Amino acid sequence: MKKADVLVIGGSAAGPVAGISCRRKYGNKSVILVRKEEQVLIPCGIPYVFGTVGSPERNLIPDALIQNNGIELVKGEAVEIDRKKKAVSLSNGDTVSYDKLVLATGSSPLVLPIPGIEKEKVFIVRKDVAYLKNMLDVLNDAKDIVIIGGGFIGVEFADECKKGRDCSVTIVELLPHCLQLALDEEFCTEAEKVLSDRGIELLVNSKVEAILGDNQVSGVRLAGGQELKADMVVVGVGVVPNNELAKKAGLEIGPGKAIAVDRYMCTTTDPDVFACGDCAEKVSFFSGKPSRLMLASIACAEAHIAGANLFHTRYKNPGAVGVFSTIIGERAFACAGLTERAARQEGYDVVLSESTAPDTHPGGMPGSVSTKVKLLFSKDNGELLGGGISGGKSTGEIANIISACIQSKMTAYDVSLFQMGTHPALTASPIVYQLVNAAELAIKAM
Ligand SMILES: Cc1cc2nc3c(=O)[nH]c(=O)nc-3n(C[C@H](O)[C@H](O)[C@H](O)COP(=O)(O)OP(=O)(O)OC[C@H]3O[C@@H](n4cnc5c(N)ncnc54)[C@H](O)[C@@H]3O)c2cc1C
Repeated sequence: MKKADVLVIGGSAAGPVAGISCRRKYGNKSVILVRKEEQVLIPCGIPYVFGTVGSPERNLIPDALIQNNGIELVKGEAVEIDRKKKAVSLSNGDTVSYDKLVLATGSSPLVLPIPGIEKEKVFIVRKDVAYLKNMLDVLNDAKDIVIIGGGFIGVEFADECKKGRDCSVTIVELLPHCLQLALDEEFCTEAEKVLSDRGIELLVNSKVEAILGDNQVSGVRLAGGQELKADMVVVGVGVVPNNELAKKAGLEIGPGKAIAVDRYMCTTTDPDVFACGDCAEKVSFFSGKPSRLMLASIACAEAHIAGANLFHTRYKNPGAVGVFSTIIGERAFACAGLTERAARQEGYDVVLSESTAPDTHPGGMPGSVSTKVKLLFSKDNGELLGGGISGGKSTGEIANIISACIQSKMTAYDVSLFQMGTHPALTASPIVYQLVNAAELAIKAM
């Protein structure tokens, strides 16, 4: 039997961060991290395996990250937690005992109950090197690809499939727009135009009713009866928390089917068991109500909190803000906090404002990209609730600035006085800096 002060189960985004956070806060504690994969993928990089990055092996989290932080890595699957004995059994028969346990078992892709989903050459984007290698081989021979789901996984995958390949790619999306759960309609429409310009076919308001073919997929049938030819189908419709291990150990499972935790990332059942990342329940930063957001950024923030709180309570989880970004071709889209739709659904009276400017000054600089920022403030107290952006590569970091402003509960007045740094080649001009301009316009509209 192995023995550790802290045992972490899970080796992707949340697990290593929880272990490192613990080692940084409690340098005298020993940490073992158990993960079931031989090699672990950067989950957010998976769509890029099929184009920009080129292979699963070029999209790995290095084991050195764990080992360099004084954490012992054990490759194996945890199959049972004995909370009385404070020990975890592995599938190879070994046991690891712990003082504190962190569950970071993540999520698995949702498998839709569509007839034919089990056919060959239908893929569900697993975080698994061998699976993705096979998927890449199939893609390289495919001529007609149908992607079920126009969320960020489906859209990124579609865009990557087109890189260096002569194939037809069709996205089938149930909602009226692709990316609708993450972005406001105007940004969705712009993203859809970029997808169409890149030769990707979009079928929105459409549902795949059946996957056709004998053993191997030959097409899909939509609810209206239309059939699409396909020699490869990719399903990217969401994920479900991996809760089996926790459930078997008698830990409470929450409304989102994830492990129930408090604001300190401790399970509601056992003071010596913590959970973080996709396997843990979340609440919204804004309403405190259960949230279904599952993002690597949230997983890592929770893991920092869990690791730091193992032996002393240090940090409280403020809830999930939700910061999302993506890029299609050369155009990036992002959102931090609430979209306009989500804010109205939550009952906020909102003030909207927007500002567009080049991301360099002068705008004629080579590589300059027109960048639009839309901000959303609460009419009641002026606080920033969210922001949407479309532009070039700075879009991702603008979303992160907006998230920092939201977390600091900054009002339109605070944002309008925001002191940014600017440089002709690196940022928008201070005279037309979009965040400040949009905040000033919102104040005028309040
Ligand atoms: C294709 C794709 C693209 C994405 N892009 C983005 C993005 O751009 N930005 C973003 O913020 N988020 C993105 N996400 C979401 C993000 O990947 C997840 O939120 C994140 O991976 C969650 O991390 P996690 O560590 O909680 O879980 P996971 O990544 O699911 O990892 C769980 C780990 O636990 C291990 N494990 C589970 N059970 C056991 C067991 N019994 N024994 C041992 N080990 C076990 C697994 O093998 C794995 O190592 C994307 C997701 C996908 C699928």
